[in-house]
Amino acid sequence: MAEGDSMRVAVIGGGQLARMMVPAAINLGIDLRVLAESEGMSADLAATDVGDYRNVDKVLQFCSTADVVTFDHEHVPQAVLHALVDAGLAVHPGPDALLAAQDKLHMRAALTGLGIPVPRWAAVADSAELATFLEQNNGAAVVKTARGGYDGKGVRIVRAATEADDWFAALAEDGNGGSLLAEELVDFRRELAQSVARRPSGQVAAWSAVESIQRDGVCAEVIAPAPGLDPELARVAADIATAIAEALNVTGVLAVELFETADGRILVNELAMRPHNSGHWSIEGSVTSQFEQHLRAVLDLPLGDTAPVAGWTVMVNILGGPTTGTMADRYQNAFAAFPGVKIHNYGKDPRPGRKVGHVTAMGDDLDTVLHEARAMAALFGD
Ligand code: ADP
Repeated sequence: MAEGDSMRVAVIGGGQLARMMVPAAINLGIDLRVLAESEGMSADLAATDVGDYRNVDKVLQFCSTADVVTFDHEHVPQAVLHALVDAGLAVHPGPDALLAAQDKLHMRAALTGLGIPVPRWAAVADSAELATFLEQNNGAAVVKTARGGYDGKGVRIVRAATEADDWFAALAEDGNGGSLLAEELVDFRRELAQSVARRPSGQVAAWSAVESIQRDGVCAEVIAPAPGLDPELARVAADIATAIAEALNVTGVLAVELFETADGRILVNELAMRPHNSGHWSIEGSVTSQFEQHLRAVLDLPLGDTAPVAGWTVMVNILGGPTTGTMADRYQNAFAAFPGVKIHNYGKDPRPGRKVGHVTAMGDDLDTVLHEARAMAALFGD
């Protein structure tokens, strides 16, 4: 293949998601460029530039020679996204789609408008409105900041309207007339996630729905496929994600976080328009990983096969990490004990609770696979 005709993809954000696009880009011969927030980030093993993703001039300059612009996170401001589009760049996902992943109130309104099942919700501007919502919802609510939350930050279960006063005060200080999102406290059996990828020209491919187990608002484990999921609910999950991708014109990977309720319904919790923690299992566990699929999708190339390659794939996140001993020692022990388990080390400095890597185990017996993945991760995490 001729040198110099490789497709160039600019990724804004230098975290582990950009990092995990690198092996896929290498295999496809794609020239991947990353705009990282600072030196020494996870993705700096790619061709990396450092700059502020909120700075229009910097982002325009970084993206100017790219065939496609895509993202490691959802935080690029709308004004910057629109400047890229106005400059004639192919931005995937585009600004309008991304808005639904940037703002939870916008997301809830958009999904409700499409008839997609979501928890009961309301925009609440002050504690009086929250009090009304609590009265209407058995005295409990999940209150969320519309923007900037992640890994459970910006999410709070409240049983009294005063419990969100600090957030209302912060909104008042902003002076933008913003509201909080109040939701019913969903009685869920478990959390699921459904990922799809969609090309600008329309093709959509779905992976199996997975079960995701959260601890303290952070994804801890993912089991693919979701054990014992009723095939009808699996179809509903795939249909919901496909409908969202099509209606919101999402391009690239869309991950839909779902609740399977105690009474057997599927409700949408959250959207992410990029590769997602709930899809890391696909690196080893699917014919096509979410990272390769994202690159294919944003370049409008035919999508890869999403079939699983094993009966079960379990992904366990590594949070924090030991502060003693060397990496080499830990690898000696872990690799000797679990030769079939794969580790992904994000190259981050460990801090308590910080996602610094994950492990993936596969096989035909779920109990064995779960045990191996958990035991391997325990050799590395907090
Ligand atoms: P984040 O943006 O931090 O990922 P989410 O909206 O996904 O925030 O919420 C984080 C976690 O809080 C969810 O994974 C779920 O466990 C819990 N949660 C969120 N919304 C609700 C709800 N309406 N009812 C019950 N639990 C919820």
